[in-house]
Amino acid sequence: MMKRWIVENDVDKNKSYPQIVDAARFLQENEVVAFPTETVYGLGANAKSDEAVDKIFKAKGRPSDNPLIVHISNKQQLSELVNDVPEAAEKLISAYWPGPLTLIFHKKEGVLSEKVTAGLESVAIRMPDHPVALAIIEEAGLPIAAPSANRSGKPSPTAAQHVVDDLEGRIVGVVDGGETGVGVESTVVDCTGEVPVILRPGGVTREQLHEVVGQVAVDPSLKEGKGAPKSPGMKYTHYAPDAPVYLVDGTREDVQKLVDEKRAEGLKAGVLTTDEFVEEYRADVVLSVGRRDDLNTVAHGLYNALRTFNNSDVDIIFAEMFPEEGVGLAIMNRLQKAAGYRVIKA
Ligand code: AMP
Ligand code: MG
Repeated sequence: MMKRWIVENDVDKNKSYPQIVDAARFLQENEVVAFPTETVYGLGANAKSDEAVDKIFKAKGRPSDNPLIVHISNKQQLSELVNDVPEAAEKLISAYWPGPLTLIFHKKEGVLSEKVTAGLESVAIRMPDHPVALAIIEEAGLPIAAPSANRSGKPSPTAAQHVVDDLEGRIVGVVDGGETGVGVESTVVDCTGEVPVILRPGGVTREQLHEVVGQVAVDPSLKEGKGAPKSPGMKYTHYAPDAPVYLVDGTREDVQKLVDEKRAEGLKAGVLTTDEFVEEYRADVVLSVGRRDDLNTVAHGLYNALRTFNNSDVDIIFAEMFPEEGVGLAIMNRLQKAAGYRVIKA
């Protein structure tokens, strides 16, 4: 049985918690431990140790060419990891750290395990905005490499139970701080060039980045998954439930028609919709992901909904689409990947 350290999600940073001290001790001993962040649960390990980082890749079944994000708890740690913080990065840090924003820098050589960066000369760093994550990193006194705490390819975990479901028997334990808030991962922004480039949309929106640094580019490969992405992880299938997902570019009537066709063939069909319309569909399983009039609720509920389909025996899932504005860009990116970029134009 893996350990489950239960903590309040608003731990006071001036107090010491035995659960956090215990979890941090395992990190210092090069074991892997999952913990909540404001985006999703992370699977943490000492980013300076090859042995520790190797355990992350093994536990997740993650391809070794997909680099990890290094999590820090204070700005001092940043200067240990990078030589130079460009002006745009400095502005983004002031505005959005701690928060769901990962920045890519040229790395200082010889500090981190080469396995963290998968041999790249750059390193991805973020400071999570979650008191439990910050307390664990601070207590461990180490930079912590932490990808999402799911088996590779599955939806990211937004509750400790998801971590247990995926990684029981593979890691020492999970710090249970309740449900995560944002629900989709951090925005990854490359700050090594002239203009900051979004490599992965996430919790901090393109509009928010633009407000702080003016010009921001978006990695062209994000569109329809074509071309070689600059962020190695973006090329892998991700977030997928067991049954195939199809995005439907059409009306609710179009979705219902597709469901009816599949059911006429004897298949069980699921629909992913929102609170507003969950009562309208006739299908084998109809799940709501949140409220369409507040896309933050959709980001928050997305992975749980995708996982919930695995508790049913649906053969096929039809999902509604969302506007690619604000956090909608990250939602659509994850849905596209969950669907393997299959879109039905009705
Ligand atoms: P995850 O750890 O699952 O949230 O995924 C981390 C994401 O950040 C993946 O898409 C990685 O490919 C990306 N990433 C990490 N380090 C780098 C880097 N040095 N350059 C570009 N992308 C990176
Ligand atoms: Mg992940």
